[in-house]
Amino acid sequence: MLILPQNSPAIAGLNQRLQNIRARMAAAARTSGRSEQSVTLVAVSKGHAAGVVRAAAGLGAEHFGESYLQEALPKIEALRGSELTWHFIGRLQANKTRPIAQHFDWVHGVDRAQIAQRLSEQRPHYAPPLNICLQVNIAGDDNKAGIAAVDVPALVQSVSGLPRLRLRGLMCMLPEGLDSAMRRQHFSALRTLLRQLDSSDTPLDTLSMGMSGDFEDAILEGSTMVRIGTAIFGLRMEP
Ligand SMILES: *Cc1c(COP(=O)(O)O)cnc(C)c1O
Repeated sequence: MLILPQNSPAIAGLNQRLQNIRARMAAAARTSGRSEQSVTLVAVSKGHAAGVVRAAAGLGAEHFGESYLQEALPKIEALRGSELTWHFIGRLQANKTRPIAQHFDWVHGVDRAQIAQRLSEQRPHYAPPLNICLQVNIAGDDNKAGIAAVDVPALVQSVSGLPRLRLRGLMCMLPEGLDSAMRRQHFSALRTLLRQLDSSDTPLDTLSMGMSGDFEDAILEGSTMVRIGTAIFGLRMEP
């Protein structure tokens, strides 16, 4: 495994990028009238080695996002004992839900009742309920995963009854190439949807929206969780 010495230029660069992202997140949160603590940073470590995750954890990052199970599992194992929170943000396949239910703390891309059902059944009894966000194709983009906004209430109904899951909120990913005004319109629509669904029966506190290229717009529109990879870790190897 790659071990980065604490004072290496690589660590200094990582530290600088992390601090830069945190400062920009805090500024956007303040502009939207919120505290910086109201937005959680999920550092998306897909395509980067366990040693890089360890270095980021040493610099204070606590939440990590992964998209590919095969790559994520050995990393999670290598970092066992570091008290990190792991988020699965990739596409979900019904035949691969068990290791996700066993090894992750959050799953952001739930878009089918069948997947939710399996995650609930497969969540180990010794673990706390698995935190879930439903993925919404808020921009109506043909290439993006997620369900249509009109179908969200029905999925909330079926997921909120599952005993081993804790439904936390909604997630979206915007297509590339939108201008800032358009992005804010979509992020705002997701926030409105969350507000409509939030009730004492189904308390929802999470809007997982914003990536390297659009996280400030997302925070201005109420994001509580940003998923940032490239802007922290640089370019990654795609599988
Ligand atoms: C890869 C990925 C990210 C991070 O993207 P960057 O543009 O590198 O910040 C965020 N969310 C999801 C769902 C992803 O797959």
